[in-house]
Amino acid sequence: MRGTLSFDHLKSQVSDGTIDTVLVCAVDMQGRLMGKRFHAANFVDHSHAETHCCNYLLATDLEMATPDGYASTSWQSGYGDYVMRPDLTTIRPVPWLEGTAMVLCDLLDHHTHEPVRHSPRAVLKKQIARLDDLGFTAMMATELEFFLFEKSFDDIRKSGFRDLAPISGYNEDYHILQTTKEEAIMRPLRNHLYAAGIPVENSKGEAETGQEELNIRYSEALACADHHTFAKHAVKEIAWQNGRAASFMPKWNAAKVGSSSHVHQSLWEDGKPLFYQEGADLGMSDLMKHYMAGLIAFAPDYVAFLAPYVNSYKRFAKGTFAPTKTVWSVDNRTAGFRLCGDGTKGVRVECRIGGSDLNPYLAQAAMLAAGIKGIEDKMALAPPTTGDVYEDDKAADIPQTLRAATETLRHSMMLRQAMGDDVIDHYTRAAEWEQEEFDRAVTDWEIARSFERA
Ligand code: ADP
Repeated sequence: MRGTLSFDHLKSQVSDGTIDTVLVCAVDMQGRLMGKRFHAANFVDHSHAETHCCNYLLATDLEMATPDGYASTSWQSGYGDYVMRPDLTTIRPVPWLEGTAMVLCDLLDHHTHEPVRHSPRAVLKKQIARLDDLGFTAMMATELEFFLFEKSFDDIRKSGFRDLAPISGYNEDYHILQTTKEEAIMRPLRNHLYAAGIPVENSKGEAETGQEELNIRYSEALACADHHTFAKHAVKEIAWQNGRAASFMPKWNAAKVGSSSHVHQSLWEDGKPLFYQEGADLGMSDLMKHYMAGLIAFAPDYVAFLAPYVNSYKRFAKGTFAPTKTVWSVDNRTAGFRLCGDGTKGVRVECRIGGSDLNPYLAQAAMLAAGIKGIEDKMALAPPTTGDVYEDDKAADIPQTLRAATETLRHSMMLRQAMGDDVIDHYTRAAEWEQEEFDRAVTDWEIARSFERA
């Protein structure tokens, strides 16, 4: 891949002084980069084989709290270490930071050196291996939508996250004029990512004030998730370098549309797209129909992986381009699943349920598990829905709260069989904790409603 560094290339860049810092990172449950900044000489001489991190990194929340209820770690077990093993195929420059490269790590058990089963990269690798056993390769693309704000993260936090002003004053969907005004962030973003080996396709204005979308060319599932994670990090850092904030919160304002991460999916074998069948209706192969049938039937099971926070569910609102129903439709943006590229070799399914806050490893793993089940059981695909799916009363609803999605996750036999009970118990606890934290909060809405009038 253009722009990625082999270990030997990194070594030579360290010895000639081009690189002096290596970010050694794992991906946490929230999809964030967590790790250490190594002096590059130490990394190439010693630490490239392994380093360590506290195992609470996979049992915490956005606030770095230490919730109870995880079997994998606790105060009782002393919050020990995981091994971070750099995956040397993921070394890439970080062009927006001087003299810096980055590597992603797999997390291993400190004693056995076995992969930590609930670590996001391991969760995805397991489903990729299952597909591989069937002879298939998943090609995926996860779109990144986000809002840019006038002020910086620090200024916004200091003012209590009030009076948030997006960088533009009007809906900028496909607008060239408005997005020109955002090029101070978006141009370096596209170019730095490209130079780092991320196959950037384009960015475009999205359907709200200050909302942008970044598209990355589809690739194999693990690379897709690695690209997404790196790109999301880049968006925030490059916004920060420009004195602005970028937010991937799915619904930051009730009156505005939310941000999503649509996931395009197709299966291939030896470079051949298996979802396409010449002459078939819409060009869809039987394999594609079985995959989609599983994807749709099990959507309630895995929605917690596509919408992991309380706020994620605020996005699912009629007439906002975010879906409310778990049905499919042909090139129709009101359905949870949109058939794209019908009748062509590029025929694929786009899942529109995921919010911009999804963890791309977990989201893809869960959808692949559902698709594999559809293939294994030769599940039948219902005919497509048509028209305004928001108004289709017969179509099944997406679970409407994190509480509901947590229960479907907890009881999903499909996901338990595909991922393991320990993994599902772990992520059920993560979702439960988010709800518990929210239930303890006294919100602005409650105060405004009740303070004087209750
Ligand atoms: P849209 O008009 O919805 O933006 P695009 O043609 O730009 O559609 O494609 C959206 C995403 O789908 C892109 O990231 C692209 O790389 C990806 N994509 C295209 N073909 C496939 C495929 N066969 N499998 C998976 N993803 C694909």
